[in-house]
Amino acid sequence: MYELEVVEGMSSDELLEAVKIVVSKLYGKDAEALIDHIAKNGYVAEENLASDTGIRSNEGRRILQKISEEALVVPDKLRVENAVLHVWKLNSSAVKTFLLNRLRKAREKLEILLKSVQENAIYECPKCGRKYTLEVAYAQDFTCPNDREVLVEVSTRDLTRVINDIIKKLDNAINKLEQYKANNHALRATEEA
Ligand SMILES: [Zn+2]
Repeated sequence: MYELEVVEGMSSDELLEAVKIVVSKLYGKDAEALIDHIAKNGYVAEENLASDTGIRSNEGRRILQKISEEALVVPDKLRVENAVLHVWKLNSSAVKTFLLNRLRKAREKLEILLKSVQENAIYECPKCGRKYTLEVAYAQDFTCPNDREVLVEVSTRDLTRVINDIIKKLDNAINKLEQYKANNHALRATEEA
């Protein structure tokens, strides 16, 4: 549940930290380092990818491809002395959308899980601990085929509460992100660089 780490990130109102967590989980540590470099430096140049970031060129290009598909970075050209560098910059409005989409997707999954937990009772044998769905328990007359013990329904109260807590945290993060504006943040400097 890396989304929870994102929630922690949002508590300090750090959009960048949040996106680094998600990118790291999706595309690996090198991708996180790349995003960090772009944020601090304002851009990364394809020509200096390996020397500037320490990430192998092929791997760096692969990551840039992936995160550009998400529109997290956008291409640009930068004239430096007599050369033209092909650079990538962070796209802060897409960063916000990207995070919101991830959080909403996680929330949807939890809603489905919650529904499933609430609708599908689980029966447990108090003797051997084997667990059965309602359908299977019913077919066995609510007795354990292993030792003939009478099955008891497992309380889903704790699990329901845990899932509800996570949903609440995600809602909190989604609200913060929705109200988040790109000003007074490090990403703004990147945009203006
Ligand atoms: Zn049993």
